[in-house]
Amino acid sequence: MSEILLSKSAYTHNLTQIANKIGSKDRIIAVLKDNAYGHGALLMGKIASEFGIKIACVKSEFEARELSELFDNIIVLSHLPNGNESGEFIYAINEIRALEIIKPKTQIHLAIDTLMHRNGINIDEIEEAISIIKERNLILKGAFTHFRASDEHGGDYFVQKDNFNTAKTKIKKIFKGELMFHSHNSAAIERSADIGDEYVRAGMAQFGYFGFNDSLGLKRVLTLYADRISSRVLRTGQSVGYGGVFTAKEDMNIATYDLGYGDGLLRYNGKGELYLANGKPILGKMSMDSFSSIDMGERICVFDNADIWAEFFGTINYDILVKLSPTIARRVVE
Ligand SMILES: *Cc1c(COP(=O)(O)O)cnc(C)c1O
Repeated sequence: MSEILLSKSAYTHNLTQIANKIGSKDRIIAVLKDNAYGHGALLMGKIASEFGIKIACVKSEFEARELSELFDNIIVLSHLPNGNESGEFIYAINEIRALEIIKPKTQIHLAIDTLMHRNGINIDEIEEAISIIKERNLILKGAFTHFRASDEHGGDYFVQKDNFNTAKTKIKKIFKGELMFHSHNSAAIERSADIGDEYVRAGMAQFGYFGFNDSLGLKRVLTLYADRISSRVLRTGQSVGYGGVFTAKEDMNIATYDLGYGDGLLRYNGKGELYLANGKPILGKMSMDSFSSIDMGERICVFDNADIWAEFFGTINYDILVKLSPTIARRVVE
């Protein structure tokens, strides 16, 4: 089999570092969307909840239901309004039209478009939005924005901070009532000197990968292992796997391990060198449910650092981790 081990101490360390940076664990929103970035939403959610996190953020109602016992509040980011929303969750409003459809008495957070132009209402739509909110008896609980380049040097981050401040001032002027404001994702938390009294949406930093700089001293949470299915001697001149793209230059002890692109790994096509955690390469093309390498015993570590795979495939570590199939066994270790 293959197995993912999840380090509880690394995860609580990362949450502690984030809490210390912003001055409170009460203002951390744990972003646990997409099965907690492939880690396992329920397992991570339990630890976060025990640690004292009260608010989570997910993609869909489906994901919110899975975590509903664990958190006081769950924000659903990508819900399509249908008039049948649950009273239990908080829904992000991604465009002004959503306010006309969403069920009365639903709790909402307004997404504000401050530059990314992906989701949210414009700053000059705030008055209109709040009058619809009042008219339709929606329960406004907060407002937020998302940075398009908090992980990059350059001015965008500061432009968006300014724009969000403008939005906040506008909202506070016309809406009396307690509101939660939030804008910082992981990279923004790392770089920000003044988060003020905002909440933060901590995503990847929870899992130990930094986006802007390693000022938080994060520790990686996930390690991926694969167990040996079989082993053999690959004789000089013999080739292993589909297409026979790796050929032995000398007799070698090889093994096939129980993990492939069907388990959510990106498919290695046998070209270039893709290294396992101990520095040994995968040999030949990856199969759907297995890959081959030199025989390294019953269990090998495939990666404890997704950056190695991300770099090889020209993508980001998020992409490597989030694809890890929910069907891989997962176990929390100290
Ligand atoms: C995914 C997401 C986050 C978390 O981003 P990280 O870079 O992983 O911290 C925060 N806010 C929104 C709206 C998101 O979609």
